[in-house]
Amino acid sequence: MHEVSVMAGIVEAVLKELEKHQVSRVEEVELLLGEMTRLGRDQMEFAYEVVTRGTPLEGSRLSIVDEAIEIKCLSCSYEGEADRLEDDDFSHNIPVLSCPDCSRPVEVVKGRSCMVKSLKVLE
Ligand SMILES: [Zn+2]
Repeated sequence: MHEVSVMAGIVEAVLKELEKHQVSRVEEVELLLGEMTRLGRDQMEFAYEVVTRGTPLEGSRLSIVDEAIEIKCLSCSYEGEADRLEDDDFSHNIPVLSCPDCSRPVEVVKGRSCMVKSLKVLE
């Protein structure tokens, strides 16, 4: 599972950060997760539990904040959300990576994040 290795890297970075401070317990880790990463939310939560076991982060909560895709057109001035194709089963929809106004290629400006936004700690 790709999520476990990604999460292991994130948790390692958080633990390193915690070593620098006098923190007795972490209550919550807020993770910004971009749609473009294609990392599953449920899988990330599961991976968090597995990876934090036996570390100072064990038992803390992972709060995932979704970062939706935002695009910028290279031809016209459009900048904002992407159009979406709905899946057959409506369980999720797929962003269209072309301009909603002129259908030309776009640049993805948001949605690639996979980073810790904040930590809620008890000092
Ligand atoms: Zn355009």
